[in-house]
Amino acid sequence: MSEFNAEIEKAFSTAYHSERGGNAGWSELMQSYGAEPLTEEEKDALLKSEMKITRGAYPIELRRVYEIILNKYPNEAMGFAMDHKVLEYYNKIKPFGGLNDLFSNASIGTAKYSSGFQNAKHKTMTCKNCGAPRLEEMQYDNCLFCGSELFEKKSDQQTDQQ
Ligand SMILES: [Zn+2]
Repeated sequence: MSEFNAEIEKAFSTAYHSERGGNAGWSELMQSYGAEPLTEEEKDALLKSEMKITRGAYPIELRRVYEIILNKYPNEAMGFAMDHKVLEYYNKIKPFGGLNDLFSNASIGTAKYSSGFQNAKHKTMTCKNCGAPRLEEMQYDNCLFCGSELFEKKSDQQTDQQ
């Protein structure tokens, strides 16, 4: 396995084996890369959002580590589909559909769970990559959940014409 793949895999498995929202091992790994963790305010907002996760670090934090690894290995980085990889990770940590997950999410706290529903009612914009609604109470341009760009830049027009 190349060093690039080994680093990507280590980041993935450390994020995946972490408790929901991160743990000491994940914080250590982020720190070793100099990746910026979510603020407590951002984590709290994500916890209350409808984007439920059952385990693991938040996808955007894994993305931030991936980005730093990609910078170290520019050749390998070219074939790395970031949005897809982050989504793949999210699919592994999100709850399976069904009643059991509704109940386990509800056990987080009824108030938080219902506020997720309220957010869903008046959401204005959702992430094209992961489907997360943009949280209206906070200002940001990249999806807070997966880190994908929410607003298309003018420089992206070239890709639209393909
Ligand atoms: Zn997203």
